[in-house]
Amino acid sequence: MKNLFSLKQEFAVVTGALGKLGPIWIETLLEAGAKVFALDHPEAKISQGYKSLQGRFDKQHLQLAFADVTVREEVEAVYQKCLDVFGVPSILVNNAGIDQPPGQPDNACCLEDIPLELNLKVFEVNALGLFLVTQVFGGQMVKAGRGSIINIGSLYASVAPDSRLYDHIECDPPFLKPPAYGASKAAAVNLTRYLATLWASCGVRVNALSPGGVSGDQDPDFRRKFCERVPLGRMAEASDLSGPLLFLASSASSYVTGIELVVDGGFTAW
Ligand code: NAD
Repeated sequence: MKNLFSLKQEFAVVTGALGKLGPIWIETLLEAGAKVFALDHPEAKISQGYKSLQGRFDKQHLQLAFADVTVREEVEAVYQKCLDVFGVPSILVNNAGIDQPPGQPDNACCLEDIPLELNLKVFEVNALGLFLVTQVFGGQMVKAGRGSIINIGSLYASVAPDSRLYDHIECDPPFLKPPAYGASKAAAVNLTRYLATLWASCGVRVNALSPGGVSGDQDPDFRRKFCERVPLGRMAEASDLSGPLLFLASSASSYVTGIELVVDGGFTAW
Protein backbone atom coordinates (compact mmCIF):
# COMPACT_ATOMS: atom_id res chain seq x y z
CA MET A 1 0.00 0.00 0.00
CA LYS A 2 2.88 2.35 0.73
CA ASN A 3 4.03 2.25 -2.91
CA LEU A 4 0.63 3.41 -4.05
CA PHE A 5 1.37 6.84 -2.61
CA SER A 6 5.07 6.96 -3.42
CA LEU A 7 6.26 9.73 -5.74
CA LYS A 8 9.83 8.45 -6.10
CA GLN A 9 10.90 8.94 -9.75
CA GLU A 10 8.27 11.70 -10.12
CA PHE A 11 8.98 15.30 -10.91
CA ALA A 12 6.44 17.99 -10.04
CA VAL A 13 5.90 21.62 -11.00
CA VAL A 14 4.00 23.81 -8.55
CA THR A 15 2.87 27.37 -9.40
CA GLY A 16 2.18 30.01 -6.76
CA ALA A 17 4.95 28.33 -4.77
CA LEU A 18 5.70 31.23 -2.43
CA GLY A 19 2.18 31.85 -1.12
CA LYS A 20 0.32 30.31 1.78
CA LEU A 21 -0.66 26.97 0.24
CA GLY A 22 2.25 26.55 -2.22
CA PRO A 23 4.71 25.34 0.46
CA ILE A 24 2.09 22.86 1.75
CA TRP A 25 1.76 21.22 -1.68
CA ILE A 26 5.53 21.30 -2.20
CA GLU A 27 6.32 19.73 1.17
CA THR A 28 3.77 16.98 0.52
CA LEU A 29 5.32 16.16 -2.86
CA LEU A 30 8.90 16.28 -1.58
CA GLU A 31 8.14 14.09 1.40
CA ALA A 32 6.55 11.51 -0.89
CA GLY A 33 9.82 11.38 -2.87
CA ALA A 34 9.20 13.72 -5.82
CA LYS A 35 11.54 16.41 -7.07
CA VAL A 36 9.87 19.81 -7.25
CA PHE A 37 10.32 22.76 -9.56
CA ALA A 38 8.62 25.68 -7.85
CA LEU A 39 7.36 28.67 -9.78
CA ASP A 40 6.10 32.08 -8.73
CA HIS A 41 5.61 35.62 -9.99
CA PRO A 42 8.83 37.63 -10.62
CA GLU A 43 7.77 40.16 -7.98
CA ALA A 44 6.90 37.58 -5.33
CA LYS A 45 9.03 37.51 -2.19
CA ILE A 46 10.47 34.32 -0.70
CA SER A 47 8.00 33.43 2.02
CA GLN A 48 8.84 31.99 5.42
CA GLY A 49 7.06 28.75 4.47
CA TYR A 50 9.17 28.36 1.34
CA LYS A 51 12.38 29.35 3.12
CA SER A 52 11.96 26.57 5.63
CA LEU A 53 11.65 24.07 2.75
CA GLN A 54 14.88 25.40 1.23
CA GLY A 55 16.53 24.69 4.56
CA ARG A 56 15.35 21.07 4.49
CA PHE A 57 15.69 20.08 0.82
CA ASP A 58 18.72 20.66 -1.42
CA LYS A 59 18.80 21.84 -5.03
CA GLN A 60 18.81 18.26 -6.31
CA HIS A 61 15.25 18.08 -5.05
CA LEU A 62 13.86 21.61 -5.00
CA GLN A 63 14.41 24.49 -7.40
CA LEU A 64 12.69 27.84 -7.79
CA ALA A 65 12.08 29.92 -10.91
CA PHE A 66 10.04 33.02 -11.67
CA ALA A 67 7.40 33.65 -14.32
CA ASP A 68 4.09 35.43 -14.58
CA VAL A 69 1.62 32.65 -15.40
CA THR A 70 -0.23 35.01 -17.73
CA VAL A 71 2.80 35.69 -19.95
CA ARG A 72 3.48 32.91 -22.44
CA GLU A 73 7.15 33.78 -23.12
CA GLU A 74 7.92 33.75 -19.40
CA VAL A 75 6.17 30.41 -18.88
CA GLU A 76 7.98 28.90 -21.89
CA ALA A 77 11.35 30.19 -20.62
CA VAL A 78 10.72 28.53 -17.27
CA TYR A 79 9.68 25.32 -19.03
CA GLN A 80 13.07 25.24 -20.79
CA LYS A 81 14.87 25.77 -17.50
CA CYS A 82 12.81 23.08 -15.89
CA LEU A 83 13.59 20.69 -18.75
CA ASP A 84 17.33 21.29 -18.30
CA VAL A 85 17.17 20.72 -14.55
CA PHE A 86 14.72 17.85 -14.06
CA GLY A 87 13.20 16.90 -17.46
CA VAL A 88 9.52 16.75 -18.42
CA PRO A 89 7.34 16.91 -15.31
CA SER A 90 4.95 14.11 -14.43
CA ILE A 91 2.91 16.21 -11.96
CA LEU A 92 1.65 19.77 -12.38
CA VAL A 93 -0.06 21.65 -9.55
CA ASN A 94 -1.75 24.78 -10.89
CA ASN A 95 -1.96 26.69 -7.62
CA ALA A 96 -1.17 30.34 -8.53
CA GLY A 97 -4.20 32.49 -7.92
CA ILE A 98 -5.41 35.87 -6.74
CA ASP A 99 -8.22 36.84 -4.43
CA GLN A 100 -9.05 39.98 -2.49
CA PRO A 101 -9.30 39.51 1.23
CA PRO A 102 -11.17 42.11 3.30
CA GLY A 103 -9.26 45.30 4.04
CA GLN A 104 -7.98 46.13 0.57
CA PRO A 105 -9.08 49.48 -0.86
CA ASP A 106 -10.49 48.00 -4.08
CA ASN A 107 -13.04 46.05 -2.04
CA ALA A 108 -14.82 49.19 -1.00
CA CYS A 109 -17.26 49.45 -3.85
CA CYS A 110 -20.69 48.11 -4.64
CA LEU A 111 -21.21 45.44 -7.24
CA GLU A 112 -22.37 47.90 -9.87
CA ASP A 113 -19.10 49.85 -9.58
CA ILE A 114 -16.54 47.03 -9.66
CA PRO A 115 -14.10 48.01 -12.42
CA LEU A 116 -14.03 45.64 -15.37
CA GLU A 117 -10.21 45.55 -15.19
CA LEU A 118 -10.42 44.08 -11.70
CA ASN A 119 -12.67 41.26 -12.89
CA LEU A 120 -10.42 40.68 -15.89
CA LYS A 121 -7.29 40.47 -13.72
CA VAL A 122 -8.81 37.79 -11.50
CA PHE A 123 -9.92 35.76 -14.52
CA GLU A 124 -6.60 36.32 -16.23
CA VAL A 125 -4.60 34.75 -13.41
CA ASN A 126 -7.03 32.18 -11.97
CA ALA A 127 -8.43 30.76 -15.20
CA LEU A 128 -6.34 31.89 -18.17
CA GLY A 129 -3.00 31.63 -16.36
CA LEU A 130 -3.89 28.11 -15.30
CA PHE A 131 -4.78 27.34 -18.93
CA LEU A 132 -1.54 28.81 -20.24
CA VAL A 133 0.67 26.87 -17.83
CA THR A 134 -1.27 23.73 -18.73
CA GLN A 135 -0.76 24.38 -22.45
CA VAL A 136 3.01 24.70 -21.99
CA PHE A 137 3.72 22.06 -19.30
CA GLY A 138 0.68 19.81 -19.79
CA GLY A 139 1.27 19.70 -23.55
CA GLN A 140 4.70 18.16 -22.92
CA MET A 141 3.23 15.71 -20.40
CA VAL A 142 0.84 14.60 -23.13
CA LYS A 143 3.78 14.05 -25.49
CA ALA A 144 5.50 12.01 -22.76
CA GLY A 145 2.28 9.98 -22.41
CA ARG A 146 1.87 10.26 -18.64
CA GLY A 147 1.10 12.62 -15.83
CA SER A 148 -1.27 14.04 -13.27
CA ILE A 149 -2.44 17.65 -13.34
CA ILE A 150 -4.08 19.12 -10.26
CA ASN A 151 -5.89 22.43 -10.56
CA ILE A 152 -6.46 24.21 -7.26
CA GLY A 153 -10.06 25.42 -7.17
CA SER A 154 -12.00 26.68 -4.18
CA LEU A 155 -15.23 26.02 -2.35
CA TYR A 156 -16.40 29.22 -4.10
CA ALA A 157 -16.23 27.38 -7.42
CA SER A 158 -19.53 25.78 -6.43
CA VAL A 159 -21.24 28.10 -3.91
CA ALA A 160 -21.62 31.84 -3.47
CA PRO A 161 -19.80 33.51 -0.58
CA ASP A 162 -22.01 33.80 2.49
CA SER A 163 -22.10 37.56 3.10
CA ARG A 164 -22.98 36.99 6.79
CA LEU A 165 -19.37 35.86 7.30
CA TYR A 166 -18.24 39.39 6.50
CA ASP A 167 -21.04 41.56 7.93
CA HIS A 168 -19.04 42.47 11.07
CA ILE A 169 -16.42 44.22 8.93
CA GLU A 170 -16.88 47.96 9.21
CA CYS A 171 -16.75 49.36 5.73
CA ASP A 172 -19.03 51.37 3.51
CA PRO A 173 -20.22 50.03 1.13
CA PRO A 174 -20.13 46.57 2.79
CA PHE A 175 -17.28 44.18 1.94
CA LEU A 176 -17.89 42.12 -1.17
CA LYS A 177 -15.93 38.98 -1.94
CA PRO A 178 -14.95 39.63 -5.58
CA PRO A 179 -17.57 37.97 -7.80
CA ALA A 180 -14.89 37.13 -10.35
CA TYR A 181 -13.07 34.94 -7.80
CA GLY A 182 -15.70 32.19 -7.59
CA ALA A 183 -16.52 32.53 -11.27
CA SER A 184 -12.85 32.12 -12.22
CA LYS A 185 -12.57 29.08 -9.94
CA ALA A 186 -15.71 27.57 -11.50
CA ALA A 187 -14.04 28.11 -14.87
CA ALA A 188 -10.93 26.32 -13.60
CA VAL A 189 -13.03 23.35 -12.45
CA ASN A 190 -14.87 23.17 -15.75
CA LEU A 191 -11.60 23.40 -17.66
CA THR A 192 -10.42 20.48 -15.55
CA ARG A 193 -13.22 18.33 -16.98
CA TYR A 194 -12.49 19.50 -20.52
CA LEU A 195 -8.79 18.63 -20.23
CA ALA A 196 -9.47 15.36 -18.40
CA THR A 197 -11.61 14.04 -21.24
CA LEU A 198 -9.33 15.42 -23.95
CA TRP A 199 -6.15 13.96 -22.49
CA ALA A 200 -7.42 10.74 -20.90
CA SER A 201 -6.34 8.65 -23.89
CA CYS A 202 -2.85 10.24 -23.71
CA GLY A 203 -2.26 8.98 -20.17
CA VAL A 204 -2.63 12.37 -18.48
CA ARG A 205 -5.16 12.68 -15.66
CA VAL A 206 -6.57 16.08 -14.75
CA ASN A 207 -8.41 16.76 -11.50
CA ALA A 208 -9.35 19.75 -9.37
CA LEU A 209 -8.72 20.07 -5.64
CA SER A 210 -10.98 22.66 -4.03
CA PRO A 211 -10.01 23.68 -0.50
CA GLY A 212 -12.39 25.35 1.93
CA GLY A 213 -11.15 28.14 4.19
CA VAL A 214 -7.60 27.48 5.35
CA SER A 215 -6.65 28.60 8.83
CA GLY A 216 -4.44 31.70 8.83
CA ASP A 217 -4.51 35.23 10.13
CA GLN A 218 -8.27 35.74 9.69
CA ASP A 219 -9.97 38.01 12.23
CA PRO A 220 -11.56 36.22 15.23
CA ASP A 221 -15.18 37.11 14.30
CA PHE A 222 -14.74 35.73 10.82
CA ARG A 223 -13.12 32.56 12.15
CA ARG A 224 -15.92 31.98 14.66
CA LYS A 225 -18.67 32.48 12.09
CA PHE A 226 -16.84 30.43 9.46
CA CYS A 227 -16.27 27.51 11.85
CA GLU A 228 -19.96 27.53 12.88
CA ARG A 229 -20.79 27.25 9.17
CA VAL A 230 -18.57 24.16 8.66
CA PRO A 231 -20.02 20.74 9.60
CA LEU A 232 -16.59 19.62 10.88
CA GLY A 233 -16.53 22.78 13.00
CA ARG A 234 -13.13 24.19 12.06
CA MET A 235 -11.05 25.69 9.28
CA ALA A 236 -8.64 23.51 7.27
CA GLU A 237 -5.09 22.99 8.53
CA ALA A 238 -2.10 22.21 6.29
CA SER A 239 -2.30 18.57 7.29
CA ASP A 240 -5.88 18.37 5.97
CA LEU A 241 -4.70 19.32 2.48
CA SER A 242 -1.66 17.04 2.10
CA GLY A 243 -3.54 13.73 1.86
CA PRO A 244 -5.96 14.86 -0.87
CA LEU A 245 -3.08 16.29 -2.94
CA LEU A 246 -0.99 13.15 -2.53
CA PHE A 247 -3.98 11.02 -3.54
CA LEU A 248 -4.49 12.98 -6.78
CA ALA A 249 -0.77 13.19 -7.57
CA SER A 250 0.01 9.52 -7.02
CA SER A 251 -1.05 6.23 -8.56
CA ALA A 252 -3.49 5.83 -5.65
CA SER A 253 -5.86 7.76 -7.94
CA SER A 254 -4.89 6.00 -11.19
CA TYR A 255 -8.57 5.55 -12.21
CA VAL A 256 -9.62 9.06 -11.20
CA THR A 257 -9.83 11.86 -13.72
CA GLY A 258 -12.12 14.84 -14.27
CA ILE A 259 -13.24 15.16 -10.64
CA GLU A 260 -13.35 18.06 -8.24
CA LEU A 261 -12.12 16.82 -4.86
CA VAL A 262 -13.70 19.24 -2.40
CA VAL A 263 -11.75 19.52 0.87
CA ASP A 264 -13.98 21.86 2.83
CA GLY A 265 -14.97 20.10 6.06
CA GLY A 266 -18.49 19.74 4.63
CA PHE A 267 -19.04 23.48 3.98
CA THR A 268 -20.72 22.85 0.63
CA ALA A 269 -22.82 19.94 1.97
CA TRP A 270 -25.00 22.31 3.98
P1 NAD B 1 -1.53 33.29 -1.82
O1 NAD B 1 -1.99 34.63 -2.28
O2 NAD B 1 -0.89 33.18 -0.48
O3 NAD B 1 -0.52 32.67 -2.90
C1 NAD B 1 -0.78 32.74 -4.26
C2 NAD B 1 0.55 32.73 -4.99
O4 NAD B 1 0.29 32.85 -6.40
C3 NAD B 1 1.45 33.91 -4.58
O5 NAD B 1 2.72 33.43 -4.20
C4 NAD B 1 1.50 34.77 -5.82
O6 NAD B 1 2.74 35.44 -6.00
C5 NAD B 1 1.25 33.75 -6.93
N1 NAD B 1 0.74 34.41 -8.13
C6 NAD B 1 -0.29 35.30 -8.20
N2 NAD B 1 -0.42 35.76 -9.45
C7 NAD B 1 0.57 35.15 -10.18
C8 NAD B 1 0.97 35.23 -11.53
N3 NAD B 1 0.34 36.04 -12.40
N4 NAD B 1 2.01 34.48 -11.93
C9 NAD B 1 2.65 33.66 -11.06
N5 NAD B 1 2.32 33.55 -9.77
C10 NAD B 1 1.29 34.29 -9.34
O7 NAD B 1 -2.78 32.34 -1.94
P2 NAD B 1 -2.97 30.92 -1.24
O8 NAD B 1 -3.84 31.11 -0.06
O9 NAD B 1 -1.66 30.24 -1.09
O10 NAD B 1 -3.85 30.19 -2.33
C11 NAD B 1 -3.27 29.31 -3.28
C12 NAD B 1 -4.39 28.80 -4.21
O11 NAD B 1 -5.38 28.16 -3.40
C13 NAD B 1 -5.09 29.92 -4.95
O12 NAD B 1 -5.42 29.46 -6.24
C14 NAD B 1 -6.34 30.15 -4.11
O13 NAD B 1 -7.39 30.68 -4.87
C15 NAD B 1 -6.64 28.73 -3.64
N6 NAD B 1 -7.41 28.65 -2.39
C16 NAD B 1 -6.92 29.17 -1.23
C17 NAD B 1 -7.67 29.06 -0.06
C18 NAD B 1 -7.17 29.60 1.25
O14 NAD B 1 -7.94 29.61 2.25
N7 NAD B 1 -5.94 30.05 1.37
C19 NAD B 1 -8.92 28.43 -0.08
C20 NAD B 1 -9.38 27.92 -1.28
C21 NAD B 1 -8.61 28.03 -2.42
